[in-house]
Amino acid sequence: AVLPVDPVKENYVRKVRNCIFSIAFPTPFKSRVRLVAVSKEVLEDILDLDLSISETDAFIQLVSGGKIVSGSIPLAHRYGGHQFGIWADQLGDGRAHLIGIYRNRQGEKWELQLKGSGKTPYSRNGDGRAVLRSSVREFLCSEAMYHLGIPTSRAASLAVSDDEVWRDQFYNGNVAKERGAVVLRVAKSWFRIGSLEILAHDSELDLLRTLLDFIIQEHFPSVNVKEPNRYVDFFSIVVSETAQLIALWMSVGFAHGVCNTDNFSLLSITIDYGPFGFMEAYNPDFVPNTSDDERRYKIGNQANIGMFNLNKLLQALNPLLDPGQKQLGRLGLLQQPSILPDGSPTDFHSQMLWGLFFLVLIFWAGEPSVGVRPLTPQGDRYSQDIPLCYTWQFWALETISKHKLFPAWVSQYLLRLKSNMNDSDSERRKRMTTVNPRYVLKNWMAESAVQKAERNDFSEVHLLQQVLQHPFQKHSAAEKAGYASPTPSWAKDLRVSCSS
Ligand code: AMP
Ligand code: MG
Ligand code: MG
Repeated sequence: AVLPVDPVKENYVRKVRNCIFSIAFPTPFKSRVRLVAVSKEVLEDILDLDLSISETDAFIQLVSGGKIVSGSIPLAHRYGGHQFGIWADQLGDGRAHLIGIYRNRQGEKWELQLKGSGKTPYSRNGDGRAVLRSSVREFLCSEAMYHLGIPTSRAASLAVSDDEVWRDQFYNGNVAKERGAVVLRVAKSWFRIGSLEILAHDSELDLLRTLLDFIIQEHFPSVNVKEPNRYVDFFSIVVSETAQLIALWMSVGFAHGVCNTDNFSLLSITIDYGPFGFMEAYNPDFVPNTSDDERRYKIGNQANIGMFNLNKLLQALNPLLDPGQKQLGRLGLLQQPSILPDGSPTDFHSQMLWGLFFLVLIFWAGEPSVGVRPLTPQGDRYSQDIPLCYTWQFWALETISKHKLFPAWVSQYLLRLKSNMNDSDSERRKRMTTVNPRYVLKNWMAESAVQKAERNDFSEVHLLQQVLQHPFQKHSAAEKAGYASPTPSWAKDLRVSCSS
């Protein structure tokens, strides 16, 4: 059906009040659009689409914003957020369009969103577009995170046009002509902390209540929407799931890069892949984003930032809470140190080892056991002194009983293994090879794929996609490409930024 809506009028930039979404139409590309990659799993398992459909022109139109499915009313979401610690007021989907909610054969509802599909009322000074390099990174990394077992949005497809997009590259001071690309991404929900913050900030409390009740009803089945304490119950789930998410990030050395409240999902999934990075050698000061001058989002600070963001969520809920509930909410946050060990979220050693033990608990022992405390490598100088790759040091742990370095820590660790696990060394080692990734998407790997993709050679995008679907398994082409080797010298100075 054709809607009686003028996309140009609907999409003009403005301060929006009293709503959660604005009708906003994708802007079709003017030039030829090529399909770079699709995720077979997302298409077939989530969207019930036959893979062969992805080769049709209609599919490319759909996933690049060229055409809207009949009956769909595309929307841009209004949200706010704290960016780098400061209230930024209205942000919103400035270059993304929700093109539909799909209920699949299993009865699951998935929200389909285009990113890079043109201007919306929330574009502010932006052009509404995303470039190829950032889209390749988002496409590959979100799928990679899923296969690492980390909650995340997924990517169904990536298409690139020949339309010119000008980008400030931040890290080299240049503005360069690039190509516009679109990722079709899917998630159970795209609501974030900032979705609630804007309503609380603008005193739209009826809408705040309506949105919260909707989110609870749709996505928090364990919370009773009729229960007077439902917002506190909701909050405590978001707190513990966010802590778990960050622990999982840490366990693979993932730094999100831009942990603003508008990039923190209320469903505690990883969203908004921008200047993320996987840490090379262990370094708590690792900052992937060149534009993060204050190093606010360094990897060692992610747990603290999680706390900061959850506090902002609590503030957004506050107008709906009575004094007793406010107190409960604050307590919920304070009690969270059961996952932030010893109540000292700043202690990165503990954090890192906690991340590891989180894996131990979840994947090795099956059930998380209560009251476990991380080992702190007292007496040993830990891997800061060794140019090891962070993720591979967990591979090294598989053969821990044979290690000569860090004797104090190793003996503590072996003791811990004995008390926590009641299986043999070989069984333990077998299990570890199923939880410690051999391949993560280092920036140089993405960059190598991007450089080829810029020449319309999408082979390395496809190779990485394939390898990262099985990150725990050795893959011969991946070994040959050096994906389990130290960063090559050409990429030593590689930088990523907000436009990445
Ligand atoms: P991010 O740092 O990616 O979370 O983006 C922060 C805000 O800027 C969000 O509201 C985005 O929609 C918006 N934004 C980022 N890039 C663009 C762009 N090229 N055009 C319009 N809005 C953008
Ligand atoms: Mg964002
Ligand atoms: Mg972004």
